[in-house]
Parts: sequence; C-alpha cells; structure tokens
Amino acid sequence: MNTRAIWLPSFLSVLATARTFTLDGISARPVRVEVDVHRGLPAFQVVGLPDAAVREARERVRAAMINCGFEFPLSRIVANLAPASVRKAGPGLDLAIAAALLTASGQLDLGGLPPLALVGELALDGSVRPVNGVLAIAEAARSRGSEAIVVPAANGPEAALVGDLDVIGLESLAQLAALAAGEWQPSRPRPLSLGLRVAEGGPDLADLRGQPHLRYALEVAAAGGHSLLMVGPPGAGKSLAAARLPSILPPLAPDEALEVARIASACGRLGHGPGGRPFRSPHHTISPAGLIGGGNPPHPGEATLSHCGVLFLDELCEFHRDTLEALRAPLETGWVSIARAGSWRQLPCRFMLVAAANPCPCGRGDADPECVCPPLAVQRYQAKLSGALADRIDVLAAIRQPSAAEIGGPPGEPSAAVRERVALARERQEARLGSGRCNAQMTPVEVRECALEEDAAALLADAYARRRLSGRAHDRVLRLARTVADLAGAEAIGRDQMAQALQLRRRDRS
Ligand SMILES: [Zn+2]
Repeated sequence: MNTRAIWLPSFLSVLATARTFTLDGISARPVRVEVDVHRGLPAFQVVGLPDAAVREARERVRAAMINCGFEFPLSRIVANLAPASVRKAGPGLDLAIAAALLTASGQLDLGGLPPLALVGELALDGSVRPVNGVLAIAEAARSRGSEAIVVPAANGPEAALVGDLDVIGLESLAQLAALAAGEWQPSRPRPLSLGLRVAEGGPDLADLRGQPHLRYALEVAAAGGHSLLMVGPPGAGKSLAAARLPSILPPLAPDEALEVARIASACGRLGHGPGGRPFRSPHHTISPAGLIGGGNPPHPGEATLSHCGVLFLDELCEFHRDTLEALRAPLETGWVSIARAGSWRQLPCRFMLVAAANPCPCGRGDADPECVCPPLAVQRYQAKLSGALADRIDVLAAIRQPSAAEIGGPPGEPSAAVRERVALARERQEARLGSGRCNAQMTPVEVRECALEEDAAALLADAYARRRLSGRAHDRVLRLARTVADLAGAEAIGRDQMAQALQLRRRDRS
C-alpha cells in the first residue's frame, strides 16, 4: 500500500496514508499513518498512543517541509497512528508522517512506485537522520509485503542485508519528491559486512603470562559455553582474562551474526565496536532494568546486548542483590521475559557469564598475612559471594598473583591456537546435541545420558557424598566433565576428566 490521497468532497477534507514501523524490543510492529487535512483553524495533531518524541514530530515535519521548498497546509491536520493500541516510540515515524501529509496536500504522488514503507527522522533543514532498528524494520517490511523501503541513507547498508527488498537511502526530504517524479534513480546500498570473523588485532590471550590454571579454566569455559567465576586479588589478571575470552570463542555462525546485528541495530550500536562476538562489561551500579532490559516499549539491556558473546561482571559482590537476582531466570532459559500491561515480550540473551571477585574485602585474601579484614567481615563477604549466582556458575577459578618470573616470562599461547581446540570441542558437542548447542545448555535428561566410565562414576559418587553436592551441582560437574572429555576427544568421560571437572569446581567444599 502506498501513500495515496482520497478526496472526500462532501466534507472538503483529504485523507492520505503511509506505511511505517515502530520498534518494539528488537522487532518491529507495523504502523499505518493516516493524515487528514480539512478546513478549519490551522492546527496539527498527532494521535494514536505516541510518545513524546513522536508528538514532537509535528515541529520537525513542519520545518523540514518548509525548508525543502514544500508548502505547509494552513488547515486542520490530524495524523493518526494505527493501531492505536500499540505504543509508538522514537523519531522514526517523521518521514512517513511527512510523506502522508505531502500526499494529502497534493504535493507528492508515490502511486507510481511499488508498495513501500518509509522510516527516518527529519532534521529541521529536511535532511533525513538515521534511526535505530532499521534492520528489524526492513525484515518486517519484507514479511508484510512491502517491495521497497525508504530509509535514511546512513541506515542503507543495514537495510540492504535483507534480500528481496528494494532499499532506497534518502539524504533529504526533497529527494522523496524527485523519487516519486522518476527524476532520481538511487542505487542499492552495499550490504553491511557482518562480524563473521574473529576481530583481528583485538586483545589476545598471549598477553596472559603464566597462570596455567586460569588459562585452562578459560579454555574449558569457552569450549562448553560454561559460566565462569574468577576469585583472586586485584591485579591478578581477572579483567585481562575476561576481555580475551571472545578471542578464543569460535566465529559467529551467519544466523547468529544476523541476530547480533539486529540487537545492535535496535540499540543504535551497529557498526560501533570491533565486530565479532559481543563483550559487555557493565559497571556494578547498573540497575536491574539496565542489565536485563525494561521500559515500555521494552528496551534491551546488557544481557541481550551480550547475546552470543560474553557478559562480564567485575566486582561481583558490589552488584546490588536485586540486579543479580534479576539475572537468574535469563541465565537458565536464555531469554529475558518482560511483562507489561496487556503485552509480553521475550528478548534473546544466550551469553556466557563471566564474573570476577576479590577473595575478601581488602582483596589480599585471608590466607595472606597482610590481610587486615576482621573474620566477621570476611565471613559476610564470602556469604555474599556464595549467594550471588554461585549456584548458576559452572567453573570456579581461584587465581593467585602471578610470580615475577611469570610476569617477565615469555608470552602465553596465542588465542588462535586455543580457539582451534575450542572449535573442535564445539563441533563434537553440536554433533551430539544439535546445531548451535553446547554442553552448558544440556537438559537434565541429556546430562544423565552422558557416557561415563565406571571409575569416573565412582569418583563422582564419592565427591557427591563427601562434598555434599546439591543435585544441581552434581549435574554441573557432569556437564563440565563432558566438556573436558570433548576437549580431549574422548567418547566417554574417564576418571581423569572427572577429576579435572571436580577441580574446576573446587569452591563446592566451602
Ligand atoms: Zn582481606
């Protein structure tokens, strides 16, 4: 359906419509802009559950039309955004409102073009500014039958990722009239390149010197998609190690890269950063809504921005309790569910959780003679640590300060070599569990189906009784042991692999 004008002579008023979309989470919902121009005192009203940015479109549209040489009708104008039950947010509806108003006032005729949708923010001088979520909007436009989409020129490359859709990148409102008149034939923008390869020149694991236990913990976590908690003194390399985790993960699959791009686009972050797997490291003062998303319409949080990548929580004990509680369900399901009056949204958030904490409030650890923390403070601190998501974390790595010899020694094994082993282990998991899945996501039924050698089963049974493991911790050890076996290329989990898995969860004893 194009922008078109319907003359209604009996009331001396004109109705025109345009098709556009509004962003809702990371997907787009269709909006039909209806503009009615009729005789009366000059006024311009926008109705249909608009937010403040949409209501302000009136001023932008008026100035943009006049500054592009169009006439602004001195009549009573009503722009209705249908369906009225859906909340419209952001400035992306400006272009469609302007197009419908130009059509209603007889200054534009898009009737000669294929069915198209329009999206873009207008500047006062009539230039078209980029908006968020154009990738999701272009996908929605194609699935709803539009053959073309008019987008801000800066968003052209992301819209061009969608096939079977004619993408027109607009620099200014004046070009819309030239397009309609057939005086301007825009060329299709080049599609954006998705981060299908590991970002080169980024942080490399070679920078981590010594620390063999930490390196192994990182490799196992990466291979099985396991969550990881590092406990150690400040300056031991926790943040350095976490930032290098994306470099040892296999590159994104094409559908994953598209999903990551869709989320980045909805948050206005597409094209920022190095590409590849996301790495997010929010500050500990973040609110629950900032971490998992919220608002109406819902806005993705850090958890969703980390989808297919790494979410790093440094100083885990400093995070507010409610913030960490909010993360529990998303960690388990891979989805954030946001319920709003009358609606319910799900945002994807399948990320690897990596957390870091000091061993005690002063950071030296109670084994260090210089630690001055009173025993009660250490106890309280560790209680906080074991409460905070500890039962959702697979790998627990105790880290020590590297020695002078290690710091001055040769660089560690580079990321590329580790990544190769991780990719092989992931291939084995996918062959067993299905495409895109890893050991950390095994269901309790799948965990019980893991092949175990007899002495490995005996070792696990012994640890279960001696360490008084919970049922959940028992399954976590099994998942970890499966990953250790996958890294070793073993069919069944052997005794050594079980011992290594138990070692990677040493804090279960406390
Ligand atoms: Zn201390």
